[in-house]
Amino acid sequence: MQKFLEFDRRDRKKRGRKERIYDFSEIYKDLSPKQSVKQASRCVQCGIPYCAFGCPLGNFIPHWLKNVADTDLKTAFKISNETSPFPEIMGKICPHDKLCEGVCTLEVDLDSAVSIGSIEQYITEEGFKEGFSLNYNAPKVDKKVAIIGSGPAGLSTATFLMRHGVSVSIYEKEDRAGGLLTYGIPNFKLDKTTVQRRVSMLQENGMELHLNSEVGKDISMDDLLKDYDAIFIGIGASKPIYLGLENEKNENCFQSMDFLTTVQKAQFNNEKSSIDSKNKTVVVIGGGDTAMDCVRTATRQKANLVRCLYRRGEDDMPGSKKEFDNAVEEGVNFSFFLSPKSINVQNGKITSITMTKTKLDGSKLVYLDEEEIIEADIIIFALGFKVEDTPFLDKIGVDKDERGRFKANNYKSSKDKIYLGGDCVRGADLVVRAALDGREATKTILKELGVES
Ligand SMILES: Cc1cc2nc3c(=O)[nH]c(=O)nc-3n(C[C@H](O)[C@H](O)[C@H](O)COP(=O)(O)OP(=O)(O)OC[C@H]3O[C@@H](n4cnc5c(N)ncnc54)[C@H](O)[C@@H]3O)c2cc1C
Ligand code: SF4
Repeated sequence: MQKFLEFDRRDRKKRGRKERIYDFSEIYKDLSPKQSVKQASRCVQCGIPYCAFGCPLGNFIPHWLKNVADTDLKTAFKISNETSPFPEIMGKICPHDKLCEGVCTLEVDLDSAVSIGSIEQYITEEGFKEGFSLNYNAPKVDKKVAIIGSGPAGLSTATFLMRHGVSVSIYEKEDRAGGLLTYGIPNFKLDKTTVQRRVSMLQENGMELHLNSEVGKDISMDDLLKDYDAIFIGIGASKPIYLGLENEKNENCFQSMDFLTTVQKAQFNNEKSSIDSKNKTVVVIGGGDTAMDCVRTATRQKANLVRCLYRRGEDDMPGSKKEFDNAVEEGVNFSFFLSPKSINVQNGKITSITMTKTKLDGSKLVYLDEEEIIEADIIIFALGFKVEDTPFLDKIGVDKDERGRFKANNYKSSKDKIYLGGDCVRGADLVVRAALDGREATKTILKELGVES
């Protein structure tokens, strides 16, 4: 350990720009076993492990780094999977620079954090290759829990409940499990086989999965309350935000989730996407990670020109710097301090978008009396999300707050037997925090059901 003077930081390498913009495959190549061992050996093994505090799951990072450096992959696999429901996924898509790696002592002192995410991903990926398995052998208890939504919050809850012998059934309205892991985050960031492998693993160990099953429409809450000892709600927050502009529902104006989901579904079915950016000028409005996923998806669809317009400056962008840099590298054109004013249409077709120029006065956004007209064939809005309307939950007394998010007290809802977590409580957030909610909600559920944890 402590070989940070001997070895420089090395992270997963990107495929070259020219190669990667013509396909939807992941852009990062995994670290080799040899590289992972070397990189893990850079860890200082600090007395106070700041990295573990920076990780929402409180993963035992210094422990598994030491195991990897000592080539004890089996122990690293075991302890990495103890606190996390899918470390190989988080290793790829967590904004590490803002979490574990951002507070690594080597980052703070030398600007060269241990490549924690890449090593975390290596441990479980390599462990699966070695044939290591996860333990779902807890004795069965006579309790069953229904989970609504198969996103990271739902899958995490299923994982931890099953480890305690509880029977689990997931109800998912989509045709595939995974929530935004499947139909939000594009394949070039997270290969869908990685998500499906975890889902299959849970099914092989007894989880029931009901796809195309929307609770409130195909299945009633009354039935679930009758048939299960507890219900966990992890329905996310994917309701789009509209600006109220004329023409914003034109056939060539899309909300980010409609665009990303349509493109991903076409890839699953091996067919051409019904939303096609090829040879078009695509304008994406927004400056977060979802906007970056949209511009990079349009690029891969061979758009003629992809522009991203954001109402504040580059330094104010809310998403990950890494994803912004990737978009710039892939040829996306960014303009700042522009806010949408009107969508211009001729003979039913979009021609351009008029943007009001803005500036910052301190942290306050000021709208100027100047405009810019930007040509567009397709406009995609990536302006954030709210929790869907849920009359089926409102009517039985599952309360929301003034922002439309569910109220939760230690993962309990305002109604007996119903628990919740993930984006439907927090608002649009991160996979790792949805995973945390699933793990911690499990503790509350087990306690309430009288199951020893
Ligand atoms: C485009 C995009 C990119 C992102 N990229 C990243 C990233 O790189 N890293 C990161 O950490 N986070 C990222 N996020 C955020 C992250 O995906 C979410 O925070 C996380 O998925 C929330 O998990 P969840 O389980 O709460 O909800 P979701 O993942 O939204 O899952 C909710 C599930 O519930 C289902 N559902 C809803 N209503 C019902 C119903 N009535 N009956 C049955 N099923 C229902 C939905 O179909 C869905 O499958 C991204 C988000 C988006 C939109
Ligand atoms: S889950 Fe995320 S924050 Fe935690 S160790 Fe893994 S990459 Fe870092």
